[in-house]
Amino acid sequence: MADPLPEPRLVAVLKAEGVKVAEYPGWRDRERDDETGKPFGPVHMLLNHHTASSNSLTVVAKNGVAGLPGPLAHIHLAKSGLATLCSGGRTNHAGLMARNAYESFLNEATSHPAPSKASGTVDGNDVSYGIETENLGTGKDVYPRVQYDAWVRINAAFCREYKWSAQSVAGHKETSVEGKVDPLGPVEGYGTRGKFGFSMAQFRTDVAERLKHPASWSPGAVVPPVPKPTPLTTEQRLAALETRVTALETKD
Ligand SMILES: [Zn+2]
Repeated sequence: MADPLPEPRLVAVLKAEGVKVAEYPGWRDRERDDETGKPFGPVHMLLNHHTASSNSLTVVAKNGVAGLPGPLAHIHLAKSGLATLCSGGRTNHAGLMARNAYESFLNEATSHPAPSKASGTVDGNDVSYGIETENLGTGKDVYPRVQYDAWVRINAAFCREYKWSAQSVAGHKETSVEGKVDPLGPVEGYGTRGKFGFSMAQFRTDVAERLKHPASWSPGAVVPPVPKPTPLTTEQRLAALETRVTALETKD
């Protein structure tokens, strides 16, 4: 049984994982439980999204979009790496999940089948935490290093708290029966890794790696290689000496 985390605990586990946290005004009382009559939870997984827009915080946290009232996620993750809490209750982010995909995350299977509507559907908003990560979703807009790092931390924070493996971490495209393609896009880098394309498999690997370490861990930063000085040949040393002598001679 995995009850949704009480709001203060939500803040605490994110901060313990090194996430920069902000709280959207009124977030503790904003959810979709009362409005739908469907209580949030038990929760079994995380569902990751890209916003497909910029400056989307108010839309995600409160306003929603036409036909889809806010909040649209539990957490909004800005390009700066700032995670803003939008709700601790039910939110409108997941839509319908294919049952076969959902069960693979519920059971933490090591592989996840393509979502098949024929397997039946589950209301994803009942069972998953949603993270909306700011990115245009064009396939060209880059997730900055600091944003990707925070994204891994957020997912790891929930997994650590619930004692889930990284196989509880899903992308919307892996569960949706409505043809969603998110998350998508190049990543600036992570740890010692340079630019790479976002994939859920790599993302789960990065979450799994993080879970092997304490919550305070940071992945290794890129250390530029220090060029080794090449020893000078005798000719080069003599030439350098001559240059210095010439410089001294011509000084005055
Ligand atoms: Zn989505």
